[in-house]
Formats: sequence, C-alpha cells, structure tokens
Amino acid sequence: MSTVAAYAAPAAKAPLERTTIERRPVGEFDVLIDIKYAGICHSDIHQVREGWGEAIFPMVPGHEIAGVVAEVGSGVTRHAVGDRVGVGCFVDSCRECGPCRAGTEQFCERGMTPTYNGLDRSGRPTYGGYSTAVVVDENYTLRIPDALPLDTAAPLLCAGITSYSPLRRWKAGPGTRVAVLGMGGLGHMGVKLAHAMGAEVTVLSQSLRKREDGLRLGADHYYATNDPATFEELAGRFDVILSTVSAPLDFGAYLGLLRPEGVLANVGAPEEPVSINLFSLIGGNKAIVGSMIGGIAETQEMLDFCAEHGIGSEIEVIGAEEIGTAYERVVASDVRYRFVIDTATI
Ligand code: NAP
Ligand code: ZN
Ligand code: ZN
Repeated sequence: MSTVAAYAAPAAKAPLERTTIERRPVGEFDVLIDIKYAGICHSDIHQVREGWGEAIFPMVPGHEIAGVVAEVGSGVTRHAVGDRVGVGCFVDSCRECGPCRAGTEQFCERGMTPTYNGLDRSGRPTYGGYSTAVVVDENYTLRIPDALPLDTAAPLLCAGITSYSPLRRWKAGPGTRVAVLGMGGLGHMGVKLAHAMGAEVTVLSQSLRKREDGLRLGADHYYATNDPATFEELAGRFDVILSTVSAPLDFGAYLGLLRPEGVLANVGAPEEPVSINLFSLIGGNKAIVGSMIGGIAETQEMLDFCAEHGIGSEIEVIGAEEIGTAYERVVASDVRYRFVIDTATI
C-alpha cells in the first residue's frame, strides 16, 4: 500500500477537500501512474451530488486521467517507466464474457470496475483521478501518443471517447449532416471529432454566446435552441444528432430536426427521466439510441485519431482548491470547455 494525496467529497453534496488515500501495491500486471492532470466531467458532479442514486463516500472523482508511468509490475509488457498514459472510466472487467471479448468491456456481464464510486474485484472502493497517483492494470491503461500534450489529452479519456464512439457507429463522415446538441465538455469534442471525420457540423446550443468558439472548433453552422425559428428552419435536416445535454430535454422537438431514418444518439445522463411522444419516432422511422463511453481498443483508436488530426480538448487548467467553483460553472453551462486539475496542486 502507498499513501497518496487526493481531493475527496466526504459525503454527498459536501465540498471536496484535501485528504489522503491508500493505493494498492503494484501487482504483477499493474502500472503505477504519476497523475499529472485530471479532467472534470459532469458525471463527477452527478455522482458527488448523488444525482444518479446512492454513491460510495468518501469519493475521489476523476475518470479523465493523464500521467506518466512511474513503476511497472514484473509481468507488464504493454507499458514502461516514463511512458505517457491515460485512464478512463473503468479500470477492470472480467475479461471473459462476450462483451469483454468483443472489446466492449464497459458492458461486462459481471460488471466493469468503475474508476471511482465502485468496488474493485476484491471488494475495495475505487478512487479516481483527483489524486497524485493511481495503480491500474496494464490492460486498462491507454497509451497517449507523443503528439498530444497531457493536459489537453486528459479529457479525451471520457469526453473524447464518449463523443467518438457514437459518431463512428452512426457513420459521421463526408456527406452526412451531424448536429451536436449542447456545447460543453462532450459537445465541443463532438464538434471537433465530427468535423475531423468530414461531416457537416451544426451546433445546437441554448444561446449564441459560444458561437465564435463553435465555428473556430470546426462547426459549419451554429443555432440557438432558445429561438423557436431554429426548429422551423432546421426541420428534417440532420442524419445524426449527438445529444450531450446533462439536463432533461424535450426530445420530441429535436426528433423533428432529423431526416427520415435519422438517429438521435444520446450520451447525456440527466438525473430525471424524460418523456417523448412515440409518434415523433414513428413518423419517419427515427431512432433514439444511447451510447456509453467506449471499450479499451476503441479508446486507443480515438487517441490515435486525435493525434493524427491534432485534436485535444479546449481546457482551463485549475488548481485543486478551485474544484468547487469549477463545479458551479459546469452546472451553469459556463465551462469553456473542460476544467482540468493540475494535480501538482493537490
Ligand atoms: P457539460 O460540460 O456540463 O455540458 C453539457 C452541456 O449541455 C452544457 O454546456 C449546455 O450546452 C447543455 N445544457 C446544460 N443544461 C441544459 C439545459 N437545461 N437545457 C439545454 N441544454 C443544456 O457536461 P459534459 O461533461 O459534457 O457531460 C454531459 C452529460 O453527458 C452529463 O449528463 C454527463 O453525465 C454525461 N456523460 C455521459 C457519458 C456516457 O458514457 N454516455 C460519458 C460522459 C458524460 P450549451 O451551453 O451549449 O447549451
Ligand atoms: Zn465522464
Ligand atoms: Zn466481462
């Protein structure tokens, strides 16, 4: 065991404070990672506030981890001391079930081990990236290509893969029209990635406040959803809508923006249910589908794609003592476009 510094919420809705946690000894197939940066995902806030249900406390959030390998176990072959690596939303799975073998470890039939707010395979609570070091199995540790700076790469481990996976599955590319709903952490990555894939990209944001940024990041068009004219002008326009909105939404209105056979791929995880009138799906053979992060192999593919296209997250680097303020700004849709904690301040 080693004792490392961390920021933790002692109880639901409590402010995060500096503390120490124990990390397990480095096992045969483990790597010890010196964490350099940890992104703040809206999912951290949902969980710290128990918005998704009962959670495990104390909680050290953080599943957008970028760092450098400091030590490896005797059996490790995939990573070496000094390598630049990342860790995303899960740190283990059974490795034997259908989904694990298919590379969708996030759907492990025996349950994947979340990076935090979960129990590991031996029943100990997991603690996330708002800390200075973590021990992770080599198979759940990603390689961060040299072309990607560690600070702007950290958010790729969740925001990046969560946007990339559905864009790939629903074939964003030349000749397709993709709308990205919500321009926050996931949404701004959706804009960059869909643009790099060759799609025509439209941002649907609550207002035009972030329009210039959206166009700079690769959007071709930018519309405000607080303007009813948007829904008339864009009716039937899109092949794919990627919804990244963290709050309950009137999906029916957005289904009207899809062409027949179009797909609304939802990654937002609001705390309350939404209701839709099924006629808005039937009229036009439309689909609402979900998408949850991505498997290890696809996450590596996404990191390599980002390196090839020079894509990182737009970030504000903060000290750990600013986490509370950052949470408030995320909840107020005032994030530009991901807060990243410099773990040297922990
Ligand atoms: P974020 O940075 O807060 O971005 C969410 C964006 O949604 C905001 O910037 C805002 O965009 C829009 N929005 C917020 N409240 C809204 C409202 N009441 N009405 C309309 N639009 C609203 O959050 P994030 O980190 O990108 O995460 C987004 C959601 O995805 C969260 O619920 C998170 O838990 C979830 N998530 C899911 C997965 C997955 O695997 N499926 C992975 C990571 C995160 P505008 O200002 O442009 O309107
Ligand atoms: Zn996340
Ligand atoms: Zn499994």
